[in-house]
Amino acid sequence: MRMNKKLERWLKQTLYVPGGHCPVCRRILFQKDMWVCPLCKSELKPVAGHVCHRCGRPLFKHEGETCGRCSDAQTFYYNGGYGHWLYREGVAKMVQRCKFYNEKELAYWIGEEMAKGWLLKYPSVQIDVVIPVPLHHNRFKDRGYNQSEWLCKGMLATLALPESVLNTKVLIRTKDTAHQPGKGRQARIENVRDAFRVVDSHTIQDKNILVVDDVLTTGATLRACGALLKENGAKILYSCVAAID
Ligand SMILES: [Zn+2]
Ligand SMILES: [Zn+2]
Repeated sequence: MRMNKKLERWLKQTLYVPGGHCPVCRRILFQKDMWVCPLCKSELKPVAGHVCHRCGRPLFKHEGETCGRCSDAQTFYYNGGYGHWLYREGVAKMVQRCKFYNEKELAYWIGEEMAKGWLLKYPSVQIDVVIPVPLHHNRFKDRGYNQSEWLCKGMLATLALPESVLNTKVLIRTKDTAHQPGKGRQARIENVRDAFRVVDSHTIQDKNILVVDDVLTTGATLRACGALLKENGAKILYSCVAAID
């Protein structure tokens, strides 16, 4: 009996992270430092080929340099953007686990993967400040963490940037726009436009800034954040998201 317990503990410690399940298919993960099972990982679709040079959205061959949503140079504020995966079922499940199931380590791993892709696309871009898209404080209180902040932490580790580069204070969300049932796309875009505020703008003056979020859909959130950061003195803006819808 005693031996069995010892053996069990040894098996748990060496073979898999206790309680670790694939966030997509829920199979047990039989290896340390593995966050998605090999099968589900192989089905994640990286964004590849011809993409919008502002936001990283995939484009058709006949489209030019930018997607329809970024083509208005007056209102798009980013010098470049990168999205790691296409937003499909597997990625959607991972994002859900990061947001609602306290799986910060999963978000950290996703951040590491994002950074690897980011480095391939922008090997020489110098980043001074990394800003996660903030949650409204009500939502932060409910959840206890911001999943995008954990994406940033994973990215910083892979980019070999110090934690001091992460700035979670300068950009805050003043409007709780997460739940907007019944609102159309245009109404949602308008609602998010004045949902953010910048405090202590001296921390972003003349800085090269990377804004990090989980999913890019309409782009309204990144656009709103970009406008504010630029108005408040940011020099260069880039975006990086885990997935593009
Ligand atoms: Zn799986
Ligand atoms: Zn675009």
